Amino acid sequence: HGNVLADTETGESQTGVPSKGSAQDQYLLYWFSPSSPQILLLFQSCFVGKSIQLKWVSASDHGKCRKKQGRMAASGPKSSSPRGLGRRTTVGSAQKKTPKKNGEKDSNATSTVTNEVLEISKLPDAKADVQKRGSTVLGERNVLDGSETEVDALLEQELKVERENLRRKEIEALAEETLAREEKWREQEKLAKEEAERERQEEEKRRIEARKAAIEADREQAKAETQKRREMLQQALEKGVVSARNVWYIEPKNFKGEDKVKLYYNKSSGPLANAEEIWIHGGFNSWVDGLSIVEKLVDAELKDDSKNGDWWFAEVIVPVRALVIDWVFADGPPEGAFLYDNNSRKDFHALVPLTTPEEAYWSEEEDRMFRKLQEERRLKEEAMRVKMEKTARLKAETKERTLKMFLLSQKDVVYTEPLEIQAGSPVTVLYNPSNTVLNGKPEVWFRGSFNRWTHRLGPLPPQKMEAADDGSSHLKTSAKVPLDAYMMDFVFSEKEDGGMFDNKDGLDYHLPVVGGIAKEPPLHIVHIAVEMAPIAKVGGLGDVVTSLSRAVQELSHNVDIIFPKYDCIKYNFVKDLQFNRSYHWGGTEIKVWHGKVEGVSVYFLDPQNGLFQRGCVYGCADDAGRFGFFCHAALEFLLQGGFHPDILHCHDWSSAPVSWLFKDHYTHYGLIKTRVVFTIHNLEFGAGAIGKAMTFADKATTVSRTYAKEVAGNSVISPHLYKFHGIVNGIDPDIWDPYNDNFVPVPYTSENVLEGKRAAKEELQKRLGLKSADLPLVGIITRLTHQKGIHLIKHAIWRTLERNGQVVLLGSAPDPRIQNDFVNLANQLHSTHGDRARLVLTYDEPLSHLIYAGADFILVPSIFEPCGLTQLIAMRYGSVPVVRKTGGLYDTVFDVDHDKERAKAQVLEPNGFSFDGADAPGVDYALNRAISAWYDGREWFNSLCKTVMEQDWSWNRPALEYIELYHSARK
Ligand code: ADP
Repeated sequence: HGNVLADTETGESQTGVPSKGSAQDQYLLYWFSPSSPQILLLFQSCFVGKSIQLKWVSASDHGKCRKKQGRMAASGPKSSSPRGLGRRTTVGSAQKKTPKKNGEKDSNATSTVTNEVLEISKLPDAKADVQKRGSTVLGERNVLDGSETEVDALLEQELKVERENLRRKEIEALAEETLAREEKWREQEKLAKEEAERERQEEEKRRIEARKAAIEADREQAKAETQKRREMLQQALEKGVVSARNVWYIEPKNFKGEDKVKLYYNKSSGPLANAEEIWIHGGFNSWVDGLSIVEKLVDAELKDDSKNGDWWFAEVIVPVRALVIDWVFADGPPEGAFLYDNNSRKDFHALVPLTTPEEAYWSEEEDRMFRKLQEERRLKEEAMRVKMEKTARLKAETKERTLKMFLLSQKDVVYTEPLEIQAGSPVTVLYNPSNTVLNGKPEVWFRGSFNRWTHRLGPLPPQKMEAADDGSSHLKTSAKVPLDAYMMDFVFSEKEDGGMFDNKDGLDYHLPVVGGIAKEPPLHIVHIAVEMAPIAKVGGLGDVVTSLSRAVQELSHNVDIIFPKYDCIKYNFVKDLQFNRSYHWGGTEIKVWHGKVEGVSVYFLDPQNGLFQRGCVYGCADDAGRFGFFCHAALEFLLQGGFHPDILHCHDWSSAPVSWLFKDHYTHYGLIKTRVVFTIHNLEFGAGAIGKAMTFADKATTVSRTYAKEVAGNSVISPHLYKFHGIVNGIDPDIWDPYNDNFVPVPYTSENVLEGKRAAKEELQKRLGLKSADLPLVGIITRLTHQKGIHLIKHAIWRTLERNGQVVLLGSAPDPRIQNDFVNLANQLHSTHGDRARLVLTYDEPLSHLIYAGADFILVPSIFEPCGLTQLIAMRYGSVPVVRKTGGLYDTVFDVDHDKERAKAQVLEPNGFSFDGADAPGVDYALNRAISAWYDGREWFNSLCKTVMEQDWSWNRPALEYIELYHSARK
């Protein structure tokens, strides 16, 4: 591992062989290599011929050397050195055993071997033991009277044997462990490689088959089109002649494709008799390629033939594949002609004498058509590939940027140098206690480990943090990151042996390690849910279930969803739906189907008692009973199917019963390691069930930090705050992507946001019959319920119209009175402001995409909003959100005038307009500033669109937080 050597006397580390040493100096080189002596030999061979002698001694013997030479520093190097990092024990100072704390594994549970110098922590005990035995052998008197040297010699001897034994055992244990781990890695790697190879081959097979099918399809199409063309041309050929007496003729009479011929026209034969100029506008094969021949005719000055007419001619190149030439004559070029001679609307057609037999000609035509189709397909596929590559690149760049921002956004509490922790390298952890519970403590101790506290070397010993010396209030400490680390874990305490901890509200600090040889073992998460986009979406809950699952899956974890098999599922979004099994429970047979929705594995439960054959998701009098049955059936399915998920994730009142049913009936029956996570998407509905689920769940979340605070005082939440977390929702960047959106006219990224949005606005205006004008356009996409601020929405519509803006509202109301109210408003507005306001009172997903893209602003004036997805989707489409400061709206929208600091703490730029009050002046305050910015500072406004579009409101970050939560639930 590298080549940092330490001068054990000065404690200074040196790189490579010390350069300043003189001939007789001795250096201690520590090398631990239980299973690879060949590396040692390799090292030795580097010194051959360099007059340097290497003498290898057992490191555990160096205590003896130290004693003899009297040169060793008492407790190892002072600064970073091979010994200065990681787990350190020194002769005679056994590591104090610190009490086990949150997340920390008992150090005795793992091997006591370190990857540094092996020294024996049990020596004091051994010495005491020898002394005790010595006293037995020599007798009390002998010890008292006997010579110190004799005892020392005996001690030395016994200790040596003891040390050797321990050392051998530890080396063997470590070697065995290393071998076993390596074996396992190799096995895993082999399996992964085989799997990847299988997938590659499958992909290759699919590609070859698709290619074959494409060739077949193109051949078919070429055949059909050629046939069609042949039939069409047949009529033209029938009409075609070689000349028309006294009207036109071609010279020479025999010509073929590519020949230059003279086409003569008798100007006096038709309507162009008095025209000053004569032009030919022509094509071929019944105008197959449109207008391809344009020439001006000149006077032929055929003096001797002048009595037969006024002849003019043009030189024309006969198109290559022409069987017939089609044309009209005119008094000017195509864009400047008024008078035409089109042969009494029949056009002129001249037959091209056939040089190849007809059948051969058409077979060649078919071949040409096929090649053209293939080329078109190739170009299309190439364009698609380029687009897909760009999409993937943008996605990866966003992900990387977000991770970096995530790390930076914690900077006021904790960060590392380097920011990205590298396996096999040292890292410095910087911590600012002034923003945590350890504020003001005289000492702060760092307690860390790797791989979620499971690293084979056990936790690092507690390290006292020192001032960072950079003028900040940060403290720092360093550690060496093992090569097999994938995660660094730590907490901070006020004392060496514990006291008060900062363990990040029970989650501990975990930072990813890159470049290591080990990967994080995947978690298995099972969602039990009753809504899911796009197969059965009612609101935001459905979006979250699908997109959170996809994001967690993308981070290499395994996710399954258990879902009711409603009769109203949109089955066109379910791939590979297959019968899986059937089982009996609750007095009925339950058939299980399996399929994939947006790439996520879904088990559909189909109880034969008809509970989900009602044509709807919600809306039955016995909804609570139906979903209670479903939750229980889902747990039974897991048990009977032999599933052992790490996490059961349930949502809102509808799958809340999972939480208590699991604890009541299933923890003892095979699902021992499973933990329950419960997420509240909206506390408005089913508070009773939510409260009960909170009691039984291992961890609970809601969909934003601010909403978590807002509901913290609620009696069903307040007793459980210790396990309750706010994690903001994200949106699925593949589902909401203006660069790959079939409902958006011009695909766009932040690079061409203005062009894309301009085209979308024009399309939206056209589709809804609004005036095509460059006006500020406010979009509103919402369920029309009290929660969404109905009176504020109405006020905003009038205010926007007053400011000469346009408004589009897409919304539907479950309550018929509200729906009627809006129908009336729509009618009124359509007659008074038909060119600037349109209210579409229905649920229309495709239209919503066009509004997100075409609007300048998306208004979300909710009275309360657990998270809200509309403002996030708006930003993804470069629309600026105008929102009320509540719940998730507060956490995701940062006012351009008032939230600069709050945004900066999140490493973000301000991204919208917000207001406080739930009244008209509140809306006005935000909306007026927004519209004024549009009118008065277009350039600035345009850059704001770009800024919001570049912010990442996907699941990249929230998914990491959920995974942390899942892990903490398992502790
Ligand atoms: P909630 O779940 O409370 O309705 P969210 O903001 O969390 O609100 O989620 C709303 C989702 O429903 C968004 O994806 C939004 O685009 C969509 N949506 C709301 N109303 C309509 C509508 N009338 N037509 C199409 N989509 C709608």
